[in-house]
Amino acid sequence: MTSPVWHPYAHLKTQRPAPKVVGGEGATFTLEGGETLLDATCSWWCMIHGYRHPRLVEAIQRQADELCHVMLGGLTHEPADRLARELVRVTPDGLNHVFFSDSGSVGMEVAMKMAVQYHYLRGKPAKHRMLTLMKAYHGDTAGCMAVCDPEEGMHSLFSGFLPQHHFAPAPTAPFEASREAVQPDLDALRGVLEAHHEEIGALLMEPLLQAAGGLNMTSPHYLRGARELCEEFDVLLIFDEVATGFGRTGRMFAADHAAVTPDIMVLSKGLTGGYLGHAATLATDRVHDAFIGDSPEHAFMHGPTFMGNPLACRVALESLAVFEEEDYLGRIRALNGVLRETLVDDEALRAHPDVADVRALGATAVIEVHNAAALKGVADFARTQGVWLRPFGRWLYTMPAYVTLDAEMRRITDVMKGWFLAR
Ligand SMILES: *Cc1c(COP(=O)(O)O)cnc(C)c1O
Repeated sequence: MTSPVWHPYAHLKTQRPAPKVVGGEGATFTLEGGETLLDATCSWWCMIHGYRHPRLVEAIQRQADELCHVMLGGLTHEPADRLARELVRVTPDGLNHVFFSDSGSVGMEVAMKMAVQYHYLRGKPAKHRMLTLMKAYHGDTAGCMAVCDPEEGMHSLFSGFLPQHHFAPAPTAPFEASREAVQPDLDALRGVLEAHHEEIGALLMEPLLQAAGGLNMTSPHYLRGARELCEEFDVLLIFDEVATGFGRTGRMFAADHAAVTPDIMVLSKGLTGGYLGHAATLATDRVHDAFIGDSPEHAFMHGPTFMGNPLACRVALESLAVFEEEDYLGRIRALNGVLRETLVDDEALRAHPDVADVRALGATAVIEVHNAAALKGVADFARTQGVWLRPFGRWLYTMPAYVTLDAEMRRITDVMKGWFLAR
């Protein structure tokens, strides 16, 4: 019997029945029938503590006993207040205001809407378009689709439906690049800003790591240069840290590598440790204070029903506490060491004819191939070895839970490498 569940990103004609997950523990989940799979991508990069973490489970249970939900319209509660204060504490200096929502896409919609209204309230209503990057992915809602890569991204068929924004080339300089080597990427940004700054309200980027658009990595110098260009052209800088936030790039936030404060920053995926859907859009005083005024238009007209949900806030607080108390940044360094040793530094892998590039940053590594066909069958190959891998396009990648043991990390990289070298 086929299920009425319509799966995401699925090709309905060729999809196979989805395995049924019944539980999990640490970096591994269990299927009906007892098969266990080591999750190389921690459920779309959000389950950073792995499955069934006792502290996170207990936080939800306790909160459920007190208060499952209440609207944030005109009311507040302790988990939302505390989480907002904690997010202000851990994010780059100056991000002092927190707007909650229920998913990364909506968090980005909030960010863009804030940017447009900010300029409107300052008497610059023409600054209503975004500047975004090729290879970008910012979510699947309409506003977000319009700022994803319009060619290689997955939304090209909707181009007639979407508002038009400006695009700059994706950065090409790698993470280790010098300031000079990043200059051509910054010149490309400058070119678009010089031509169109009068209608550009914000520059959006996934700092350091463009994730779903192909795991493209760049240098902290690019973030610093972008920050300066935004000042010069009166454009807000929005960091979409939905994927990069909470340690993925090796620091708490990608922005920390560059000591840059964006005007607006969006967090989601790792925010609750993946245990509930939630997001936060943070803003500086400059952005926030522009909304203080007498006209009805000064109100920010947005309010997702489930924003600030107490269960989500409570588990996010616990997630952050575990992250800090258990030295997750140290764990991520260790995982990065394994990824470098077993993948990036493997000459045979790099020399394989199908392989275009191998790179790693924090707890992320990718083998990029020349042609997507070279990855056909890799998920089945991994499953026979007890590993859940879900490549997309030309990218075979891992973004493991931070609780993944070194030996488990090696099992994952053995499978990734084995696909090319040991079949
Ligand atoms: C996943 C992702 C989003 C969208 O988040 P959802 O919770 O799936 O809506 C936005 N931006 C980035 C960088 C992401 O990785």
